Amino acid sequence: MRIVIVGGVGGGMSAAARARRLDESAEIIVLDRGEHVSFAGCGLPYHVGGEIPAADSLLVQTPESLRAALNLDVRTRHDIVGLDAASRTLTVRTAAGTETLRYDALILSPGAQAVRPPVPGLDSPRVRTLRTVADATALRERITAGARRAVVLGAGFIGLEAAEALAQQGLDVTVVELADHVLPPLEPELASLVTDELRRLGVAVRSGVAATEVLPGAAHDVVVLADGTRADADLVVLSVGVRPDTEVFARAGVETERGAIVVDEHGRTNLPDVWAVGDATVSTDAVTGVRRPVALAGPANRAGRLVADHVLRPASARPIPAAVGTAVVRVGELTAATTGANRAALAAAGTAFHTLHLHPSHHVGWFPGSEQIHLVVHFGADDGRLLGAQAVGRAGVDKRIDVLATALRAGLHVEDLIDLDLAYAPPYGAAKDPVNLAGMAASNVLDGTLRTWHVAELDAVTAEALVLDVRSRAEFATGHLPGSLNVPHTELRERLDEVREAAAGRPVRALCGSGVRSHIAHRVLVQAGLDSASLSGGMLTLRAAL
Ligand code: FAD
Repeated sequence: MRIVIVGGVGGGMSAAARARRLDESAEIIVLDRGEHVSFAGCGLPYHVGGEIPAADSLLVQTPESLRAALNLDVRTRHDIVGLDAASRTLTVRTAAGTETLRYDALILSPGAQAVRPPVPGLDSPRVRTLRTVADATALRERITAGARRAVVLGAGFIGLEAAEALAQQGLDVTVVELADHVLPPLEPELASLVTDELRRLGVAVRSGVAATEVLPGAAHDVVVLADGTRADADLVVLSVGVRPDTEVFARAGVETERGAIVVDEHGRTNLPDVWAVGDATVSTDAVTGVRRPVALAGPANRAGRLVADHVLRPASARPIPAAVGTAVVRVGELTAATTGANRAALAAAGTAFHTLHLHPSHHVGWFPGSEQIHLVVHFGADDGRLLGAQAVGRAGVDKRIDVLATALRAGLHVEDLIDLDLAYAPPYGAAKDPVNLAGMAASNVLDGTLRTWHVAELDAVTAEALVLDVRSRAEFATGHLPGSLNVPHTELRERLDEVREAAAGRPVRALCGSGVRSHIAHRVLVQAGLDSASLSGGMLTLRAAL
């Protein structure tokens, strides 16, 4: 049996390696139009930033090592320009000309291409995408040659990794993002923390504005923004998103949806004996059911393995699971991570959900080095099913999001989070881990023990309710909402009459620093017969959101 695989990086090479482990007798040919296969694309920004000094370190495998270890026939600089499903052949363009290659089973993992918006001047030689080892090497050469100013177009995960890398190299970096905030999938109240960190690194952040033109010049380029401002650039990184690299296959009759290859749960396309995986394919979102490509390495690698199983052992192959979409990025000293659906996706899907903001310590506060995690959790309003979570902080963020991603994959409900038996010793966590705390707070919301209000309701609350600030006097003095009454939570029980009088029949909306003390206050108020609610995330979330 001859298995031909198009694309020798994430999904493709995983499929090839698994196929070989399952079948010693198969002929396995991996074709890639690029110079390298099995390279660590995810490591490219760290080569630009100098943390991975040698580009060779990114070459995880070579055609020779893959031949030796797995008896794979890996052919680089082989560009697939045609597919004829009827005769089971590919047309392959190489330096030597065009050849035809027959297959018994074909696995497509062609990945994605950088989106190139119709902005004049993007063909300037100073503009580069960051997708290949050659891109990273070119950026490093530019830096070595004395580049001082960089503009990064797009503040998604890769754009911010590039911005961080360039700032590490001492360049003046400007990030331009069309969306209202950096890292568009992140909730705005968390993204603002990332913006603050970028600014701390010296990166200028221009969000909510488009780049309209790149003016190439003799000494440097000028990036023009829609608001008329300009940024000089010795180099420009174009990172405004990716789109499935599927044109040649769509032309050959592979069914696509908005450019992404349509596959079933085993990666089968509409054509016989043709499978597809990775960035090039449509996935179904595990939370919202929305169909979209998910450009992440983990899902691509794992799907490659499952597709190889289906090619060689169809009866026992497990299906490719729906996409949870877990992602993480380092920006300076911060980590930002997300899993599952965000607020916008849930609203678009018409899902009834609650949101909670928490700011727990990554390990017990009394152990040295404790850092706050800013955590947002979305869960079903009707059934309490975990729907999504995001976090930003200096430590412990990846661990909590990974636990929550596991909970999401398992379909856990917020009550289940309370019961997770997580590792604890003072340097690592707390007897009530942030994930347990999220479950407890969310369960309180579901059973009515905790009623929250949110920053989005601020105008209505200040117009119609008594805002009760239960922080200490010293905290209150550092800044508070106009018209709010300060009664520290420790004095509330004695001063209930004063609160009742100030409320004058209006609802009471409590707030504190992070939502913990206002929860206590809420319980006191509600048991005293007042209409009360506690601000989710407190002043920390309020300040980050405004
Ligand atoms: P790819 O790995 O992109 O492989 C596709 C290959 O197919 C390419 O080598 C291409 O040359 C080849 N090809 C395409 N068309 C043809 C054709 N017609 N003929 C021959 N060959 C063809 N993901 C994460 O989860 N975490 C990260 O931190 C992360 N960081 C990233 C950083 C950067 C800079 C980049 C670029 C990506 C990053 N990703 C990250 C995304 C991750 O690399 C991809 O999701 C993953 O590689 C997808 O695997 P794939 O097999 O679908 O495509």
